[in-house]
Amino acid sequence: MRNIWLYELWRLTRFLLPALLLGWMFDAPSLALFIALLLFISHQYRQFIKLYRWLNSSLDADLNVKGLWEELAYKIYHKRKRSRSRKKSLSKMLRRFQDSVTMMPDAAIVLDKDNNILWLNPAATKILRLSSQDIGQNIGNLIRLPSFIHFLRQAEQGESFEMRSPLDETQSLDLRIMPYGVGQQLLLIRNITQVQKLKLMRQEFVANVSHELRTPLTVILGYLESLQEIDDLSAVEIKQQLSKLSSPAQRMNQIVTDLLLLSRLDLDVPTNSSEAPLLDMQTLLSQLKKDGEQLSQGQHTISLKNTLQVKLKAVESEMYSALSNLISNAIRYSPDGGEIIIETSLDNNSYQVSVSDQGLGIAPQHIGRLTERFYRVDAGRSREVGGTGLGLAIVKQILRRHDAELVINSKAAGGSIFSCRFPVARVESDTVTTN
Ligand code: ADP
Repeated sequence: MRNIWLYELWRLTRFLLPALLLGWMFDAPSLALFIALLLFISHQYRQFIKLYRWLNSSLDADLNVKGLWEELAYKIYHKRKRSRSRKKSLSKMLRRFQDSVTMMPDAAIVLDKDNNILWLNPAATKILRLSSQDIGQNIGNLIRLPSFIHFLRQAEQGESFEMRSPLDETQSLDLRIMPYGVGQQLLLIRNITQVQKLKLMRQEFVANVSHELRTPLTVILGYLESLQEIDDLSAVEIKQQLSKLSSPAQRMNQIVTDLLLLSRLDLDVPTNSSEAPLLDMQTLLSQLKKDGEQLSQGQHTISLKNTLQVKLKAVESEMYSALSNLISNAIRYSPDGGEIIIETSLDNNSYQVSVSDQGLGIAPQHIGRLTERFYRVDAGRSREVGGTGLGLAIVKQILRRHDAELVINSKAAGGSIFSCRFPVARVESDTVTTN
């Protein structure tokens, strides 16, 4: 900086000294000095105007100034450059923030201290049907629910509040209000219908498990109590009484086994089709037929039809469990002498294994709910035949893990067909031949 002042002084001296000498030569030094100073000032003024114009033009425009002005321009250039890049990164950040708030599934509404709307995101339109035209309006005039008005007046900052949606009674909303900026507040609204449904399902599931386990447990306790009350029982009589405990204990064991299997199926990561081992379906179906005949003890005819030589990309233990559940249901819900057919088919889209029976059948209103955990058409009958109400839930979960679906065709007293439909991508392509 000191150098620049010296340089400027040197330039001024260089300018004034010849003028002064010329003035002395013509005996008018004051006039010469005055004219020289005037020229110097007008030169400086022109430099200043150039700098001023440059400041109003783009950053990369040319500037031809010298001395102190050049130094000044250099400093300004760097400051402008720095502030331009800061502005750029700030506007990038702002855009990113706006994008994320716009993409947010929750409604975000900025209110002033009197609850007038200042800003809202698109989710607010979806959840509350508010639009940018409502900006400036008091939100209490737009959502006139007493519970909402009460919340606006009383809400503790950040505390959550649940209410029914003003647009749809079946939807639940979670509201939260918090301070935002100077004299403003941010109202966040989340649709929690799904979360509440899951909560309810979990509560129902626990209640169902307790109920299912309590029934056999009550039977066991009853027998144990009566055993305690009788003093002089012979060994044979004790054995007889204890044998009665076996059935409810087995029932409890079956429920716990099915529950553990379901929870494992829920938690385990499914093997995708490229990693799954190849399963010879013909061998598996023959084994299932044999095991079914054993379970039926000759009371039903079980036959295999059109079994294709298919190798399926599937986990053997899971496939066995799913199909044996369908076969044992067909046996348990068919009268003695009934015929059960295990059949396969293949087309361009899917490979299908179906189990059909001519048994009790199912009325249409039950069909959509059969795969729910513990859902039964006739709970008494199901327990009588040793059912837990979890079999079809297990089948559905196993099929889901194999990208497959369960299709049920049935009518009351008209028999049933339960079909497992696998996408053709699960079938090893060059192993298919028709029998
Ligand atoms: P469960 O252990 O009670 O058999 P499932 O989940 O396997 O439980 O089946 C649910 C209900 O679906 C059964 O209680 C029964 O009412 C009905 N169901 C299943 N399979 C058949 C079938 N083949 N014929 C008639 N009803 C069936």
